[in-house]
Amino acid sequence: MSGKSLAQTRLFTEMVAQKQGWVLNSDRDFCETLVEGLASNFNRYGYFLCPCRDTNGSRDADKKDICPCQWSRLDVPEHGHCYCALYLSRAFAASGKEPSGIPDRRESK
Ligand code: SF4
Repeated sequence: MSGKSLAQTRLFTEMVAQKQGWVLNSDRDFCETLVEGLASNFNRYGYFLCPCRDTNGSRDADKKDICPCQWSRLDVPEHGHCYCALYLSRAFAASGKEPSGIPDRRESK
C-alpha cells in the first residue's frame, strides 16, 4: 500500500469539494489539521477514514465513514457543512456564518 503525502491529501480534499459542488472551510489552519488527520488515517488504515471519527475496525465497517462520508450528503445541505466542517455548502460559505457542532448521524444509524 502506498501512502499519501499531505500535498496529495490536500489535493484530494480540493477535488472532493469541486466534485460535490462544495467549498473548503476558509480557515486554512483548520483545514490543514483535518488534512493531516486524513493523511494519517490513510497511511494507517489504507483509506481516508473521517478524521473526526474513530474506526469501527475494518474497511467494510468504516465504509460509510470514508471521506466524503455518507452523512455529508445530508449534513451539508441541512447544516451548511459536514460533521468535521471541512466542507461547506456554497450558500453557507457565502453567508459568513461560522460552522458549529452538529449531531453525528453515525450515532443514530
Ligand atoms: S465529516 Fe465526512 S465529509 Fe467531512 S471530513 Fe469527515 S468524512 Fe469527510
